Amino acid sequence: MTRHTPSRPVDVEKLFPEVLPFRRESVRLHPCAGEPTYRDSSVGGPLLWPADEEWPLCPEHEGSPMVPVVQIHRGDVPDLVPFPVGCDLLQVLWCPRTHRDHGWVVPHVRWRRAGAVGTRLGTPPGPAEQEADYVPRPCVVHPERVTEYPSWDLREDIWDALEDRFLALDEERGWDYQRHLSTAPGTKLVGYPGWSQDPDWPDCAGCGKRMEHLLTVRSTEADAISRHAWTPVEEDAGTPYQGPGLVLGDLGGVYLFECHDCPGRPFAHRYDCS
Ligand SMILES: [Zn+2]
Ligand SMILES: [Zn+2]
Repeated sequence: MTRHTPSRPVDVEKLFPEVLPFRRESVRLHPCAGEPTYRDSSVGGPLLWPADEEWPLCPEHEGSPMVPVVQIHRGDVPDLVPFPVGCDLLQVLWCPRTHRDHGWVVPHVRWRRAGAVGTRLGTPPGPAEQEADYVPRPCVVHPERVTEYPSWDLREDIWDALEDRFLALDEERGWDYQRHLSTAPGTKLVGYPGWSQDPDWPDCAGCGKRMEHLLTVRSTEADAISRHAWTPVEEDAGTPYQGPGLVLGDLGGVYLFECHDCPGRPFAHRYDCS
């Protein structure tokens, strides 16, 4: 079943035309607990992985296998996700343990061509130790394109110019710009990172340029404050959300970035908590 995020409850571009130049499109994944197979796009589902390719291992916990976090087929998402030429499958894994130097998890990104996999790895290795909060429950996904405006990424001078109008809207009508109007909650591709604190964009180690946002993985897409503005019309905002069940630093997130210019698509990650 597809998901449809309701329109923003007010006309953002009419009320705050200053944010219009910073509009972006993102792809909400709307993960819901289910039984995805290796053929499906999923969060926390089995990956289509070649039998003759090494499974990603954590560089810090030497030899400890990572777990699947996201698998996305190009045909399942709007044409916004920058798949490398010749690739039609995005796979993200991470080591589900606490890391001394890197924060909560250490992720790995793999782009590939699904048709080139050949013999599939039947049962991948699993980590001997894991934090249950960092292992996503298998979920099917319902990708949906939505419009976003910068939240924590809004330029300070524009924030200052708009602050009184933001406050007035909140007082008069109960809509908070950051929580209800700007960036979509939950796990999503491209668009703006779903920061819950000040932005911390990485620069590419190769070329020095600011990297592009690829994926935000958040604990939930239905927190108590944002859910009455962002809950898809197919769902009941009063029903408990059955998602991946991640607890990433309370209501925090993990953010993946990549450089589109350097060979091999180098990636980096950040995380925060609310
Ligand atoms: Zn590790
Ligand atoms: Zn680069």
